[in-house]
Amino acid sequence: MSGPIQPPDLECQNELLAGVEAREGRTASVGGLDVVRVLPTKGRRTVGAWCFVDLLGPADADEPDPLEVGPHPHIGLATVTWLLEGEALHSDSLGTEQVIRPGQLNLMTAGHGIAHAELAAQPPFRGVQLWIAQPEGTRHDAPAFEHHEELPEVELDHAAGQVLAGTLGEASSPARTDTPLLGADLTLRRGRTVLPTDRTFEHAVVPLEGRVKIGPEVVEPGWVALVPTGVTDLPLESEHGGGRLLVLGGEPLGGSVQMWWNFVARDRDEITAAYRDWRDRTDRFGTVPSQLERIDAPRPPWLRETG
Ligand code: MN
Repeated sequence: MSGPIQPPDLECQNELLAGVEAREGRTASVGGLDVVRVLPTKGRRTVGAWCFVDLLGPADADEPDPLEVGPHPHIGLATVTWLLEGEALHSDSLGTEQVIRPGQLNLMTAGHGIAHAELAAQPPFRGVQLWIAQPEGTRHDAPAFEHHEELPEVELDHAAGQVLAGTLGEASSPARTDTPLLGADLTLRRGRTVLPTDRTFEHAVVPLEGRVKIGPEVVEPGWVALVPTGVTDLPLESEHGGGRLLVLGGEPLGGSVQMWWNFVARDRDEITAAYRDWRDRTDRFGTVPSQLERIDAPRPPWLRETG
């Protein structure tokens, strides 16, 4: 005998959605560009392995901010560059020089160490910069870079978009993932969209245009909605019949991730070692083919003057 399973499941789903939290991002400056940082947020460092989300963009279209980020190092993370407007040139210490345009994906995996620079080739410039923390199994590996000219399209009821990482519906991204995760850019039409989500994932919804309702919360650009694990169908509804957003998800990252400056590690000693290798120009981070000025690391606050 099987009883009705629908009502308890729905109840459970609604209870989970009641746990959705809305957070406002904070403004910061990166390479002279005003950005809104929506992750990390207060008391919350990661969503899946996603550990950093910056919305980059000119607020003033008449005087676009330049994007000029000189050579700087990374360890223990992958950077995702996703443009909404304009063009940028990525160069890195693997010798890569790659122009990126809207709809294309740059994925740079730092592993043990890489250095790169970014230059707006065509302003005005608007985009998203995301970091993914690498797991223990790959974070000491050699660095790598991928450029994806085209990404798979996903078509859902009342929404369509591109899958940057992982799988959504029928569409799977060819981009490398070191942990189970999802990244998608969705344009919402009028009506309610239900995303088929993995119940083992936690999610973040990052509005890019328009206001969007997720469970009991409404968020707009500059905000993020955090969705707990256990949700198998994530309802999204645009407030005014249209909108665009990023959905980021993944299995919660076990262990303690330490982030400082451009480094993701597990403890201070690893970060100190990376700081010194960059300062002392050891061959760990290589040389970037860029005319931009190299960015020095600030001294970690836990080091003494002689550090
Ligand atoms: Mn960087």
